[in-house]
Amino acid sequence: MKKDLDWSSLGFGYIATDYRYSSKFKDGAWDEGQLITDSMITLSECAGVFQYAQTIFEGLKAYSTKDGHIVCFRPDLNAARMADSAKRLEMPVFPEDRFIDAVCQVVKANQDWVPPYGSGATLYIRPYMMGTNPVIGVKPANEYEFRVFATPVGPYFKGGAKPIVIKVSDFDRAAPHGTGHIKAGLNYAMSLHAIVTAHDEGFAENMYLDPESRTKVEETGGANFIFITKDGTLVTPKSDSILPSITRRSIMYVVEHYLGMKVEHRPVYFDEVKDFAECGLCGTAAVISPVGRIVNHDTVIDIPAGMEEMGPVTKKLYDTLTGIQMGSIEAPEGWIKKIC
Ligand SMILES: *Cc1c(COP(=O)(O)O)cnc(C)c1O
Repeated sequence: MKKDLDWSSLGFGYIATDYRYSSKFKDGAWDEGQLITDSMITLSECAGVFQYAQTIFEGLKAYSTKDGHIVCFRPDLNAARMADSAKRLEMPVFPEDRFIDAVCQVVKANQDWVPPYGSGATLYIRPYMMGTNPVIGVKPANEYEFRVFATPVGPYFKGGAKPIVIKVSDFDRAAPHGTGHIKAGLNYAMSLHAIVTAHDEGFAENMYLDPESRTKVEETGGANFIFITKDGTLVTPKSDSILPSITRRSIMYVVEHYLGMKVEHRPVYFDEVKDFAECGLCGTAAVISPVGRIVNHDTVIDIPAGMEEMGPVTKKLYDTLTGIQMGSIEAPEGWIKKIC
């Protein structure tokens, strides 16, 4: 039976659900892994994760569909991206097929926590991995734990479809030739001061520029940018130091193949931003969130589509993408993983 939650008033927060998955890596091999009920982790004070921040994560969602199933959206891409993140931080790869299996097990075991269709909420799934054995000299750990938990969530930004106001950050999100392209807590730790500063000044998020020249648009703390030109082309920044968002890659496909629009994936200069008709943030958590205003010190860029609601193209994209995710629009082959 579904849990007794007020699904439609959920925010983006953590609620411990009943089951999580754990698999441990020791002596060069992963154990067989299992569902467990304990949400706590006890580790050595000297564990690699605490001393040298050896930890990576993923984020995806499970959706209730119109016809009563529970599905995930492109979990194979999360598995592949986590493998890339692991390699960059000298961590062992958790096999991609086992990643998908672990996600499915956690969702299935927690199906009473999956928000119902139409509630506006979803089940957020958080796979992660950390170095667990004591490491004091600078080197990678040799023991790891891979975990997956799930928590029901509502919209990432308060106010739902109302466009948000963001600022151009004076801080860099990632080093120029560093780890900006992997999903790791270290990038988020770097961005916390910037996000707190932005929030204190009344902004919902940061637009980060490329750290090398500070002329190009990178991304926000946890979402990629999409822009719509006045003649209806989707433009989205190409950069080696941003996270390759699965939502953004899916949007690029949807725009071309479902909406018949053109896509440009290329460097985007901040100087161009004032000329776009619509701007949005995209990611698993943000879904597609419209941006209404971008402030860079004394420069204020108002996005013509308006401060009050989503622009027309952003709305069409949002409806198509969420329609695919929740089963009311037919998905491209292989995008939807049916769990139960
Ligand atoms: C997770 C994340 C995104 C969004 O990626 P999706 O795969 O669409 O969820 C964007 N930027 C950063 C920095 C992220 O960590």
